[in-house]
Amino acid sequence: MGIYRNILVAVDLRDDSEQVILKAKSLAAANTAQLYLLHVIEPVGYAYGGDIPMDLSEVQQQLTQHAKERLANIGHKLGIGEQNLLIEIGKPSAEIHRLAKDKNIDLVIVGSHGRHGLQLLLGSTANAVLHGSGCDVLAVRIGL
Ligand code: AMP
Repeated sequence: MGIYRNILVAVDLRDDSEQVILKAKSLAAANTAQLYLLHVIEPVGYAYGGDIPMDLSEVQQQLTQHAKERLANIGHKLGIGEQNLLIEIGKPSAEIHRLAKDKNIDLVIVGSHGRHGLQLLLGSTANAVLHGSGCDVLAVRIGL
């Protein structure tokens, strides 16, 4: 029996996500843990502070559909069952925390680009996940 039972890996669906998922898969196998893959879609309106006098629901639907397909492809390619693929809409760090509680997660895995300077000051999703997490967090350094 391993240390972790339920592992949640958060993915932004960029090409380099696979590096993070592959490590998560090995950890899950070594711990005989459940592995969940989560992608959070940010509401389109967020980017414009809700000021746009336009119906963005269709755009949102398309983005959601695209994200679902991409997550399903990654899950299929890496052998992660459909029932363990999760999509939520909201703020990534908040949704990651919420899902972690919901699914009794004991390890959250995120990617980290190892930012410098201003980007570091502005903070990252990885930072936000670490702060306020009720369980262990692993930040996997993503190679350039
Ligand atoms: P970032 O701070 O955007 O460089 O993201 C760092 C890590 O946070 C990513 O490698 C993912 O693990 C996670 N992350 C960022 N955005 C999302 C998202 N929309 N959904 C799920 N996880 C995310």
